[in-house]
Amino acid sequence: FSPWTDPDAVPLIRFENVTKKYGDFTAIDNLTLNIYEREFFALLGPSGCGKTTLMRMVAGFEEPTSGKVLLAGKDLVGVPPYRRAVNMMFQSYALFPHMSVADNIAFGLKQANMPKAERDERVKEMLKLVKLDKFGGRKPHQLSGGQRQRVALARSLALKPKVLLLDEPLGALDKKLREETQFELTDLQVTLGMTFLIVTHDQEEAMTVADRIAVMDHGKIIQVATPGEIYEQPVSRYVADFIGDVNIIPAKVETAGGNAIKLKSPWSESPIEVSTNVSAANGSDAWLALRPEKVGISLQPPAPGTANVLAGEVWDIGYLGDLSIYRVKLPSGDIVKAQIANSTRLVERPITWEDKVWLSWAPEQAVLLTS
Ligand code: ATP
Repeated sequence: FSPWTDPDAVPLIRFENVTKKYGDFTAIDNLTLNIYEREFFALLGPSGCGKTTLMRMVAGFEEPTSGKVLLAGKDLVGVPPYRRAVNMMFQSYALFPHMSVADNIAFGLKQANMPKAERDERVKEMLKLVKLDKFGGRKPHQLSGGQRQRVALARSLALKPKVLLLDEPLGALDKKLREETQFELTDLQVTLGMTFLIVTHDQEEAMTVADRIAVMDHGKIIQVATPGEIYEQPVSRYVADFIGDVNIIPAKVETAGGNAIKLKSPWSESPIEVSTNVSAANGSDAWLALRPEKVGISLQPPAPGTANVLAGEVWDIGYLGDLSIYRVKLPSGDIVKAQIANSTRLVERPITWEDKVWLSWAPEQAVLLTS
């Protein structure tokens, strides 16, 4: 499922050169983005980057200062929120405390003048969908946090909107419930064949639920791609650092040619080599993004002249059960992290604190970044 790769696909939601200003402050900066039908799309970025503003423009709670927001090809500017085929679920579920679960779900249907019989049928369908068949008669305070969250979800889906907007929907749940609910959300989205747009500042959440992620910074989109692409091929230090754990190694390009680039790093005596299709000029500054799980660690020095080696001393070991994180201090004082699965049988003796170690990686395991 990847409609974004089809040049003829019509986006369900399109932001076209959208700018949003609050006084002198530019919250969204000439942004263009397409979201397709049946996509689970995540807007990800630090607090204040403009995610919520973007989502609120789809809902109709904000209008762009300039540019267009299109739904199925139609400009939404000027269309009031209740006339848009979208619905928004908020972090604070905002259930009516005095109403039963069923009445909460029926609320929007009643406002839309759906006849009673049809309404009852829809409420039943929604309760079943979120696996709360037997809970229709309860009041919100008689439910767990996770169940309340599901009622809110059922309520926002009841009118069968084209797009469900989720604003940090799982923020109030504890970690375990949050993870479970993430899978429930993706199941639901696939079952319903709907388009979900989620705002989150939690990169793991975005990676788990989304088909594609837009990483934002200061009102701009820095990268739009699948979770795998964002993790494996970040376009800048900002994205690499925002998604997952990473070592950013400074370097200077020595010889660029073809897709093998040779560099020199102030962190290493050894030559640095990277296979990449990123172009970089000789003499320019660059960085390697190297994920800790791609770094090998050894007690033995490699043969002189071997590329991609950093020498240092084990500063700290974090034991995480399935894996361990070795924090290695280089002579320069910089720290590089290597993550080793604890099921890996070390050929040498176990590595411990203050050991002198050599870190290494293959040329295709680091990503070359020029910004
Ligand atoms: P968070 O994760 O904290 O919700 P966000 O990425 O969703 O952040 P937005 O809520 O979209 O960020 O806000 C983007 C920027 O616009 C922020 O700097 C915010 O202060 C500013 N902003 C949002 N709404 C208004 C408003 N009504 N008036 C003035 N500034 C605003």
